[in-house]
Amino acid sequence: MKRTHFNLVLIATLVSVIILSSAWEFLFENLIGASVDAEHEPESLSRRLEYVISITVFVAISLIFPAMVGYKLIENQEKLTDKIKRLSEEDYLTKLHNRRKIHEILENEISRSKRYNSTFAVILLDIDNFKITNDKFGHNAGDQVLVQITDIIRKTIRESDIASRWGGEEFLVFCPHTNNDGAFSLAEKLRNNIEKKEFGEAGYKTSSFGVAQIEHADTVQSLVQRADEALYSAKNSGKNMVMVAK
Ligand code: GH3
Ligand code: MG
Ligand code: MG
Repeated sequence: MKRTHFNLVLIATLVSVIILSSAWEFLFENLIGASVDAEHEPESLSRRLEYVISITVFVAISLIFPAMVGYKLIENQEKLTDKIKRLSEEDYLTKLHNRRKIHEILENEISRSKRYNSTFAVILLDIDNFKITNDKFGHNAGDQVLVQITDIIRKTIRESDIASRWGGEEFLVFCPHTNNDGAFSLAEKLRNNIEKKEFGEAGYKTSSFGVAQIEHADTVQSLVQRADEALYSAKNSGKNMVMVAK
């Protein structure tokens, strides 16, 4: 629950309590108090007491019920907002961050690296000859390979690294506090783990990698472009390899 909503419910509850206590005070002074002072007949007093209790219960229910409904409505609204936000940031097949989300993360990390003079690197991964897998075994088998490669990426990277689906059969891994050498080692591990895995009927697959480390004047576009050029060079040099951007 958001703080502002919580505050609203808290204020509503406080107002309810104030109204309720004023109502009590009023009723006590005008009905019970008067009756006790005047020492009126006891049956009249008990009838008035019943009246006061019924009014109190009614007022309590009429205040608490809308407050509870309001609380529930706000809670549902927040769940829906969270779901929409998650869907707009998530890739539907692999459940990794989608391109929009990783772009946003990289923009923030570039600002942070400029402010604190920190470094980071990105790894671009592209599955080799993926079109052949689709053509030979069908789109569903291709999808399964993408999901299984996602699993390998998740198990290989560190907790602080962030994996995303950059496009069709391309993934981008963001590696904080990592230079070219560190990112190269991780990409080699990924390359190895993918190469040795058997993907069911699709058999064995390989992948190529481009690595780039952040430079002072970089934007998201220039950084990813350097990783892409390195990837392109890995493809041109025979695939199933890692290349680091110059
Ligand atoms: P290269 O080694 O040069 O990367 O060749 P490639 O065949 O992997 O690359 P190409 O760009 O020729 O083909 C990529 C294929 O990836 C074509 C496209 O249909 C497939 N693809 C993209 N997204 C998906 C997806 O979500 N599911 C499946 N099954 N296939 C996809
Ligand atoms: Mg590609
Ligand atoms: Mg490919």
